[in-house]
Amino acid sequence: MKITDLFTRKKRTFSFEFFPPRDEISAVDFGINVGQLMKLDPSFVSVTYGAGGSTQERTFALVNYLHNKIGLTTMAHYTCVNATHDKVTADINQLRNNGIENLMLLRGDPPVGSNVFFNRDTSFQHASDLISVAKTIYPFSVGAAAYVEKHPEASSLKEDIQNLYIKYKAGTDFLVTQLFFNNEAYFNYVTMAREAGITCRIIPGIIPITSSKQIQKFMEMTGAQVPETLADKIKANANKPDKIYQIGLDFAIEQCIQLLEWGAPGIHFYTLNKSRATIEIYETLPKRLM
Ligand code: FAD
Repeated sequence: MKITDLFTRKKRTFSFEFFPPRDEISAVDFGINVGQLMKLDPSFVSVTYGAGGSTQERTFALVNYLHNKIGLTTMAHYTCVNATHDKVTADINQLRNNGIENLMLLRGDPPVGSNVFFNRDTSFQHASDLISVAKTIYPFSVGAAAYVEKHPEASSLKEDIQNLYIKYKAGTDFLVTQLFFNNEAYFNYVTMAREAGITCRIIPGIIPITSSKQIQKFMEMTGAQVPETLADKIKANANKPDKIYQIGLDFAIEQCIQLLEWGAPGIHFYTLNKSRATIEIYETLPKRLM
């Protein structure tokens, strides 16, 4: 099923993001966690591509499995960093031949330690270039990335939203945000996007902080600001992992409830392939907001 068709039936969607497990042990762990998450009957699931060193084969295999064997509405992430036109066309056709109708199309980042971006084929400078090509192959439901605190390379939020408009006009059907902890930033971003003429759904991407190590990692990876009150609470409990887990969880629950109450069109959970925190958040959300 296309995610855009879901939108005609559901005011809000609740989706889970996974990455392909790296080895056999992680695959077993993944199976257990996904089994638990499936009980929540997600609107759709998505599988990352290439992020953190995962391979294309594993992404395609997992997407195929979730879509064709488990029967979930599945979205394949796909990036064009360093890709050639022929490779992109072949890959997207392969996904389509496996029945995939939903793509999260991204530029991607160069491998760690490399500053050379698009050195094989200059056709793909930005996600918008990839989206235009994908839409000529099949009328996929296309998701793209949004950054409520701006993409790290953009000089300002305004410039980033101007670029987002290009991506939207290229054929983006909905946007999923990078993780963030400040709801005001999200609603400000949605207002700016609407003013720029971007009318599609902008689904907030949420991650609970479940350990003190994660704070620095998330900030470095995404540029997301962690509110001082949350950071202070976590620092004050640095040696109490259970307490930190609960603090992160409580914050995420409150964040999701406020987002939904203020009109967000659902939540995209970055599950990190773990079920516990996502289940606890999801099951705490008031049914009237689901
Ligand atoms: P773009 O939309 O191309 O934007 C990148 C930068 O270029 C921005 O600063 C933007 O303002 C600017 N820009 C865009 N278009 C133009 C234009 N036409 N002219 C001038 N400037 C322009 N990475 C992975 O490797 N695998 C994944 O599976 C993955 N999944 C993700 C899922 C989500 C929801 C998010 C938010 C991110 C994900 N990423 C993933 C990370 C993403 O690849 C990086 O953040 C990357 O740096 C940017 O990708 P993008 O698609 O947003 O790029």
